[in-house]
Amino acid sequence: MDIKKVVIIGSGTMGSGIAAHLCNAKIPVTLLDLKTEVSLAARDRIYKSKPPLLIDKSTIENIKVGNINDDFDTVKDADWIVEAVVERIDVKHDIYEKIFKDRKPGAIVSSNTSSIPIKVLSEKLKDNEKKDFCITHFFNPVRYMGLLEIVKNENNDLKKINSLKKFCEVELGKGAIVCNDTPGFLGNRVGVYAMQVAMTEAMKMKLTIEEADAVFGRPMGIPKTGVFGLYDLIGIDLMADVLKSFIKELPKNDKFQNVAKEIPLITKLIQTGYTGRKGKGGFYRMNKSNNQKILEAINLDNGSYSPTKKVDLGIETVDINKLIDRKDKYGEYAWSIISQIIKYASSLVPGITNKFNDIDEAMRLGFNWAMGPFEMLKSIGVKKFFDRVDNFKGNKFLENLSKKKDENFYGERQLYTEIETLGKIKPKSIKVDKNKSADIYRFRDFNIVEFTTKACALDYDSMDALKNATDKPLIIMNESMQFSAGVNLTYTMNFAEKGDFKSIEKFIKYFQETCKHLKYSKYPVISAPSGLALGGGEEVAIQSNFVVSHTNIVMGLVETLVGLVPAGGGCKELLWRWTQTDAAKKDPDYASVSVFNIIGYAKTATSPIEAEPLKFLRPQDKRIMNRNSLFEEAKKIINNNSNFVPPTPCTFNLSGKPLKEKMIKILEKLYNDKIILDHGFRVGSELANVLSGGDTSKDKTLTEDDLYKLELESFMRLIQTKETQQRIKHTLSTGKPLVN
Ligand code: NAD
Repeated sequence: MDIKKVVIIGSGTMGSGIAAHLCNAKIPVTLLDLKTEVSLAARDRIYKSKPPLLIDKSTIENIKVGNINDDFDTVKDADWIVEAVVERIDVKHDIYEKIFKDRKPGAIVSSNTSSIPIKVLSEKLKDNEKKDFCITHFFNPVRYMGLLEIVKNENNDLKKINSLKKFCEVELGKGAIVCNDTPGFLGNRVGVYAMQVAMTEAMKMKLTIEEADAVFGRPMGIPKTGVFGLYDLIGIDLMADVLKSFIKELPKNDKFQNVAKEIPLITKLIQTGYTGRKGKGGFYRMNKSNNQKILEAINLDNGSYSPTKKVDLGIETVDINKLIDRKDKYGEYAWSIISQIIKYASSLVPGITNKFNDIDEAMRLGFNWAMGPFEMLKSIGVKKFFDRVDNFKGNKFLENLSKKKDENFYGERQLYTEIETLGKIKPKSIKVDKNKSADIYRFRDFNIVEFTTKACALDYDSMDALKNATDKPLIIMNESMQFSAGVNLTYTMNFAEKGDFKSIEKFIKYFQETCKHLKYSKYPVISAPSGLALGGGEEVAIQSNFVVSHTNIVMGLVETLVGLVPAGGGCKELLWRWTQTDAAKKDPDYASVSVFNIIGYAKTATSPIEAEPLKFLRPQDKRIMNRNSLFEEAKKIINNNSNFVPPTPCTFNLSGKPLKEKMIKILEKLYNDKIILDHGFRVGSELANVLSGGDTSKDKTLTEDDLYKLELESFMRLIQTKETQQRIKHTLSTGKPLVN
């Protein structure tokens, strides 16, 4: 099946997201709605969306718009027609009647419904029409969510379903999982059940919402919104509709029914406009008093609000065992919800899928869980699980497993795709080394380093792993969301607070030494970033020999936001790239001033298209739509570079003082215009010092080591100031930098 043209009907949240993503894949797409104004407004929303739905904003005009009366002819040419109108069966039936009258023979038609079964959607279709009709359930926001559930039933032409899956995998980069026509499919059936269990159990056990979100969150490998934060994000009213649909569609004896009952507090929240973040607030709300914004949390007993209280469980990374082994209410809560989720998910096998692994992968891709229920069971350990769990009568999967007690029941990962992914090869590799911040795997004749800290933040151990892994070609990549959010600021601040600046200096020097080592080691080093590659993360990527980048990366050298300058070689390497341009050959200061603006303003790119003009990426770096393919592409580079020669060391001829003065002038203007304040001026001056080459002149040749030294000196001066320390602390406690 060749999909060359797509029409989407319904230009709301999902229709516009799907249109934007087809545009990302360079597929001509038309977006129709009741009125052209509506689809035009949708296109405008796409353009302004944050985070951006488009990889390249300049392609917006490739999304054609129209209305279903005047422009329905476009359906005649389409190879795939996606229906994404409101969740009303009468409206959907009318649309299908129109589509099937006009579609070209064999064109595929799909619905984005989240709750209506194919059986009902297609009840008015003829047999030959049913063959080409399925559900393509995208998740919001479409560009960023990995999961696409392709739902089929017995009437479908399986060959066609498989080619649609292939198209969505290769062209759209989705983790496309084909599943059966059962309520909520895979992701929502288990994901919404998990949320309901977490919520009802928190109420039963009298936990505060902050306590529940701290447990049903990071330590369990679940995004930090937890359950109540996620409810607010999705919309409390929308969740109520989803639950009504589950109650209606699922058999009366399904365990889901027990946790889906109406809760008076939720009904009251919806009635009073507390529908979540889009409304007046929800379980959490932002209250303004005395010109100050205070985040408040609801009391589940009486509905009153009070300022949130931070709950620190002392578990930094995903650690289910540490959580369920606790002898307090948190441990009891964690075990209760985890065991119920495992029991429910396993009771659905083989009903909703015969591959239990598909449920896990749906939870990873659709809900950003670090592991699905079956991986949780694996990590708890089969024996330990059965020693503790009670009452699983009738659950065939668990009954079998309890008899066999096979600790290796799990088998292969990511069965839904044929792509050789990092997730699949990790169990087949040898773990040659491991420290608290990274794992080193040996696969065939090369190494892989995976960072394992929260947001893959970098510290001395991360560098140590990288350095030790260069005895073979090396791929640096992670299965978790981020490549690296940068240097671990908590780690750095712990030293700063003790006044132990020697240890900070030792770390930064080692960071530099490692990055230099990555660049010049005998074997090729490939970084394969996705998600955040910021600060130190970008410094690792930029000093690797090759980069294979996912299209959803966020790249940048953002150190100035916390009152620092990049000191792991970021200034040096970006400057080197800019000195290679034609403009820099004509104007010796061009490169330094350009990099001064990029780093000074902490510019970030939200895609490879934006990263290239800033020179965070080079034209030869690869851009990959499907995150799953990063490993295969990186491996190809190793195979194609058996005669790898490390790059020749670079040198710099910088103007020194007059160049620095030029940059100080820029800072003075910003200062006078009150765009920066005293400390911003100081940080900018340090950056100017590095990028002008310090005490040098154009005829003097500087080495990379000279630049590293300048970076280090500036960094050390800044980290010792109370203003920079304040900025770091603010960022650590709020997740956001101080503005100025
Ligand atoms: P929405 O309300 O944002 O958009 C629906 C759009 O359909 C509106 O622009 C409306 O004008 C248009 N529309 C209504 N009747 C129409 C008709 N006869 N012809 C053409 N356009 C018509 O809805 P949404 O959130 O984008 O949801 C669309 C579908 O996707 C629903 O089936 C929903 O269940 C499903 N879904 C939604 C989400 C989500 O997170 N919002 C996620 C997965 C699936």
